[in-house]
Amino acid sequence: MSVHPLVEAVDRDAIIRIASQLIAIPSTSGEEKAVMDFVADWCAERNIDFTIVANDPNRPNVIVSIGDPATGPTIAMNGHLDTVPVSDPDAWISGPFEPRVSEDGKKLFGRGASDMKSSVGVMLYVIDTLKHTPLKGCLQAHVVSDEELSARFGTLAVIEEIKAGNLPRPDYVLIGEKSDLKVRNAERGILALEVIFHGRASHTAAARATGINAIAKAAKGILALEGDIDKFHPAIGKPVISVNMIEAGVAHNVVPGEAKISVDRRLIPGETKDSVVAEIRAQLDAVAATDPDFKYTLIVDPEDHYIEANITEEDSPLVQAIQASIRSVTGQEPEYFVAWAGATDGRFYRKEGIDTVGYGPYGENAHGANEAGYIDDLVTEAKVYIETATRLLNAGR
Ligand SMILES: [Zn+2]
Repeated sequence: MSVHPLVEAVDRDAIIRIASQLIAIPSTSGEEKAVMDFVADWCAERNIDFTIVANDPNRPNVIVSIGDPATGPTIAMNGHLDTVPVSDPDAWISGPFEPRVSEDGKKLFGRGASDMKSSVGVMLYVIDTLKHTPLKGCLQAHVVSDEELSARFGTLAVIEEIKAGNLPRPDYVLIGEKSDLKVRNAERGILALEVIFHGRASHTAAARATGINAIAKAAKGILALEGDIDKFHPAIGKPVISVNMIEAGVAHNVVPGEAKISVDRRLIPGETKDSVVAEIRAQLDAVAATDPDFKYTLIVDPEDHYIEANITEEDSPLVQAIQASIRSVTGQEPEYFVAWAGATDGRFYRKEGIDTVGYGPYGENAHGANEAGYIDDLVTEAKVYIETATRLLNAGR
């Protein structure tokens, strides 16, 4: 099947221009107002409809829309414009807010060039490109604040408005975070655990007599837990476990009676909180079976922040459409984003039962100096978004 005519007409320079304009406006999380004002003005100048959603006026979100939700499905492209702060300005070759294209024309540098202002630029470009095309349905960009922190002022605020009936409920959501042009239809869940290892405090001199060193017990426990998990899900890859904090000891000359570790466990579809807890208990109990002094207490999800692994299945019309679009645009077979990737705002839409897929460019040095987005990938992202939107909204076909 051939591609939509507007796919062939994608304008690389126009994408670089809008991405650069977004990068040039600093917008560390908490300070998104100026960049959101720019997006609103950009829409107004082009006669594109937009709505502001904000539960803090200084941290607005802009909902950009073309088409009519009464005539067919609603597709929302979601991207955030907040960035992490610049911690090392001297390590940048050009300033973080002075967007620059590399000499070979391949990379766009600047804070947010990868995470993820360039991709938001693509979304705005796609809306502008399709605004005169008759659509059976509605195409939106949810341009949000507060992704790098809590999402409370960002995507979650937008979802509250959807639930209140003030915005159309999307049938499909595209997340533009980096995915190396691979399909990201699942995200790992997150479970926090704490393990307290119990020993017996004593004078150092009595360490071999009456003391039971809780740090030594924790060391055994950590070695039992840390490592590769031999499971694999085709859409997302492996689960992850990492012991990320340890707290123990009171003084140089006291054998510690207690040691506490914090464990971050990322789950794949098919795993549950209960299955992971059982797995961790089995690993620790195996140590206890060889050491009568190995005693522990497991605290599951101490702050009640558990997130389930989430997936939009391959038979979803959205997954089907984006896979078909990748084939048509690139001539290549679509791949799943099986990578060591963290969570995106996509999980909040999936939680509402909305089919959600991530598809974004390759980029480098996100959150670091000389952050860069790959311009060829931005062009491909724009083409695949146009092709996917026109397939699902049946425009000009
Ligand atoms: Zn991001």
